[in-house]
Amino acid sequence: MPILNADLHCHSVVSDGTMTPEALAQRAAANGVELWALTDHDEIGGQQRAAAAAHAHGMKYLTGTEISVTFADETVHIVGLGFDAEDPAMLQGLHATRGGRGERAREIAAGLAKVGIADAYDGALRYVGNPELISRTHFARFLVESGVCKDTSEVFRRFLTEGKPGFVPHRWASLRDAVQWITASGGLAVIAHPARYRFTANEEYALFTEFKTHGGRGVEVVTGSHSAAEAVKYAETAREFGLAASRGSDFHSPEESHTDLGKLPYLPGQLTPVWELLADRIR
Ligand code: AMP
Ligand code: MN
Ligand code: MN
Ligand code: MN
Repeated sequence: MPILNADLHCHSVVSDGTMTPEALAQRAAANGVELWALTDHDEIGGQQRAAAAAHAHGMKYLTGTEISVTFADETVHIVGLGFDAEDPAMLQGLHATRGGRGERAREIAAGLAKVGIADAYDGALRYVGNPELISRTHFARFLVESGVCKDTSEVFRRFLTEGKPGFVPHRWASLRDAVQWITASGGLAVIAHPARYRFTANEEYALFTEFKTHGGRGVEVVTGSHSAAEAVKYAETAREFGLAASRGSDFHSPEESHTDLGKLPYLPGQLTPVWELLADRIR
């Protein structure tokens, strides 16, 4: 029986999700997920727990992470699947990628202080599960909880995106390095939620072309971040570039996420699912 309900993108308290790996596994299984991957941002500290919990709930598991990359002055996310979670180069690369987050968070708080929002650093820290992984999401939760905004989308719109007081430009990993860490450790690299980037057609073409040159093999077609029309568009892009297709909710929290684990359309036919290429990496 082919796998249909694979959910290969979500976040736990190890990065900017609100649930533990165990609680996520339980929720995914209850929603009918057959093959699952936990893909915390720039961090694989939750992989053993996630795999064990997946197996306890009868799901198959692929290792996962979502690496922050800077490409053409924009942040792009590369999902890695099926790599060896003990690979030294992967561990070192992710450690380096996480490195600037503490300093960046201080600068975000300083920017927010200038518009009258005091103590945002300590405020955000209260929501952080992993001190090395303080992210904009944690600031967003603090600003909602303290009544400054009604939801996290409003926080991003008003405070945390380019040109807004709490936005701090940051250099993440290079595309080449991220794809290299993933593939050299036995995994498959996937361009996450391609519709989310504000690229011109030329820049997007460059992203897909360079990604392939470095050894990238997949693209998210069906994700919580895509409309139905965007899924159709990126199914076409997958065919054009000869990439396999991935599917993932990008679930972060029951309160904040519009798409629940496993609750999204199946991949369109005619595309090769990334998990077919990773058959020998599934545990
Ligand atoms: P960071 O890695 O600190 O830049 O934070 C990026 C995270 O912020 C993403 O992974 C999302 O979880 C969240 N995020 C980014 N943009 C938005 C948005 N417009 N609304 C809600 N969450 C967002
Ligand atoms: Mn996130
Ligand atoms: Mn992402
Ligand atoms: Mn994500």
